[in-house]
Amino acid sequence: MITITLEDGTRQSLPPVDAVGGSNCGTAGIWRFDSGAPGPHVAITALIHGNEVCGVQALYDVLQAAPAVARGRLTLAFCNLEAYARLDDANKDERRLVDEDLNRVWGRLEGPGANGDTYEVRRAREIVPWVQDADVLVDLHSMTGAAPALGLVGLAAKNVELARRIGYPALLVRDAGHAAGLRLIDRHPFGDAGAAPTAMLVECGQHFSREAFDAAKETVARTLSVFLDGKPTPPAAPQSVIEVVEAVTIRTGAFEFTQDWPNMAVVPKAGTLVGRDGEREVRTPHDETYLVMPASPRFRKPGLTAVRFGRRV
Ligand SMILES: [Zn+2]
Repeated sequence: MITITLEDGTRQSLPPVDAVGGSNCGTAGIWRFDSGAPGPHVAITALIHGNEVCGVQALYDVLQAAPAVARGRLTLAFCNLEAYARLDDANKDERRLVDEDLNRVWGRLEGPGANGDTYEVRRAREIVPWVQDADVLVDLHSMTGAAPALGLVGLAAKNVELARRIGYPALLVRDAGHAAGLRLIDRHPFGDAGAAPTAMLVECGQHFSREAFDAAKETVARTLSVFLDGKPTPPAAPQSVIEVVEAVTIRTGAFEFTQDWPNMAVVPKAGTLVGRDGEREVRTPHDETYLVMPASPRFRKPGLTAVRFGRRV
């Protein structure tokens, strides 16, 4: 049993790795519930990053309730089991991954471009067969800095529609992903405008905040209700879409922001200097620029995303 200290100082016991890492279908960490009746295949993934624990709790709660799926199929996946197994309260900021970022490997698992023999690549290859044919994929994450829950929906309009059907979260971000590699939600067919399956990545809030646990639970409850019970879940708050117009990829080992920008901060004026990447100045492209997920210092490395600029649409 892992117990961690949350942002508010309270202690939280997390689901045991042995429990979530079990299986009822033969692949560690994968749980499959099939109604036998026609209906959508809903896949909910958590723990792509080993210290993003809100989703683990939300899916574990579902597991413990032994879901009776009325129609279609439900797959729950606890993804980076090894990073999670190494998590403890003293190092909980460090246990995001074992060898590499599990949410950048989804474009190089098979075919001519396949490469990598890391824990994460091997693990992704185990997970893919269970989620690849999902009609609806919801991927639960959390963030380093304080922020409201964000729904990342990629570029395809169908995924904005998915977020609207779930009715949550209130802030949706349309973005093209990362130069460093393909996310699960961007993988074929989820990211393809012409294919029916839909996906959303929910950044539930700050990693160890009570709010993130609540947001993960809300996301899961709504997803199950809409797609497996056939009960609509109207939004609790109006949803708005922020479109990412530019992802700033770090080029040097000397990237720094001009100040400690909060996630989703709005910078009023175009051309405002927000950071420097060695000699290069990083300025806002337009008025009312949203700073989407500015990277914390440990993630400011060449090739990684420093920040994304967004505009409300
Ligand atoms: Zn994550």
